[in-house]
Amino acid sequence: MTHSGRHFLQIPGPSNVPDSVLRAMSMPTIDHRGPEFQALLSQVLAGVADIFRTSNQVIIYPATGTGAWEAALVNTLSPGDEILCYETGHFSSLWKAMAEKWGLKPTMIEGDWRTGADPEKISAALAEDTAHRFKAVCVVHNETSTGVTSRIPEIRRSIDAAGHPALLMVDTISSLGSVDYRHDEWGVDVTVSGSQKGLMLPPGMSFNAVSDKALDAHERSTLPKSFWNWTEMLASGKNGQTPYTPNTNLLYGLKEALRILDEEGMDNVFARHIRFGEATRAAVDAWGLEVLCTNENEHSPVLTAVLMPEGFDADELRRIILERFNMSLGAGLSKLKGKIFRIGHLGDLSDLTLAGTLSGVQMGLQLAGIKVNPSGVEAALDILRDA
Ligand SMILES: *Cc1c(COP(=O)(O)O)cnc(C)c1O
Repeated sequence: MTHSGRHFLQIPGPSNVPDSVLRAMSMPTIDHRGPEFQALLSQVLAGVADIFRTSNQVIIYPATGTGAWEAALVNTLSPGDEILCYETGHFSSLWKAMAEKWGLKPTMIEGDWRTGADPEKISAALAEDTAHRFKAVCVVHNETSTGVTSRIPEIRRSIDAAGHPALLMVDTISSLGSVDYRHDEWGVDVTVSGSQKGLMLPPGMSFNAVSDKALDAHERSTLPKSFWNWTEMLASGKNGQTPYTPNTNLLYGLKEALRILDEEGMDNVFARHIRFGEATRAAVDAWGLEVLCTNENEHSPVLTAVLMPEGFDADELRRIILERFNMSLGAGLSKLKGKIFRIGHLGDLSDLTLAGTLSGVQMGLQLAGIKVNPSGVEAALDILRDA
């Protein structure tokens, strides 16, 4: 079936790329060793440092977020090091699996995929580790597979309360630029992020923000590192250079994305995403369905994962919605496959786009034969109107 109008891309990343960012990227190739590039890189490095809220230089890789995970591990750790991970969902499990492939020894605190990383459980695990074998604590800020956001400042306090020297590493791939985040103030040692979610860019660029303590650990770390080596990235970056060919056109896009975010104001951006989350949950409640996240303090402002009623397949619902309304929703990942669908509400999105999205979900639920209360969309509109 052909469709008129625009496709609704309401997956929780990659997110929609604003037209002005698309235009900003359509530039001829320039000399990446020349003065024009130097000025571009220096400008975006300053801009992203503001987004991470760090005074240290940020490292930008021409790679997806997974690469920046690897960079965080290989730049700070040594073969056989133990790390503490927290199972918030699919992405935290992938990060742990990567650590194993690198010969690290991760211990995973088990989770239920419906709540965030529990600061008390982290505190307890660290208190038991009197020999300080854990070199790092790795958590995902916004678990994109479940729609649950972990409380990073509380996790920092729990590490400090245990008097433990482990580094704190945080994956903000789906939260940076959409959810309040403060690398320096929250005492995070390595923040990992990516371009294609809150920053509204295509995939292919990722970041490490680093603390002084992480830089010290880097000096001692003996895991092999070449492409990811912070030392070379930081030294070149200081002069507006990169150790290898940068993805210049994505950097043009980043410059424009930073301009858009600055124009709206980060506080307004964060408030808008919180409102989108509230409106979406109001719709889900009114439909009589259940949101996957069970902790009131941990609902994601970026996406909402919705449990399918017993006997219905979430992928069949997504198929109907794509076919009839030209809208893509996020699938359930690994053990949640078919059991949930995810509504992305991040990035370049307005109140009316969200209203359209929820209308499509409501009609799709009805077409799938699920008895939902049609006041769902109205409940969302009430929240959007009164904000
Ligand atoms: C998307 C995502 C990733 C994976 O990033 P890639 O860019 O696909 O490598 C990792 N963690 C989280 C939380 C994500 O949302």
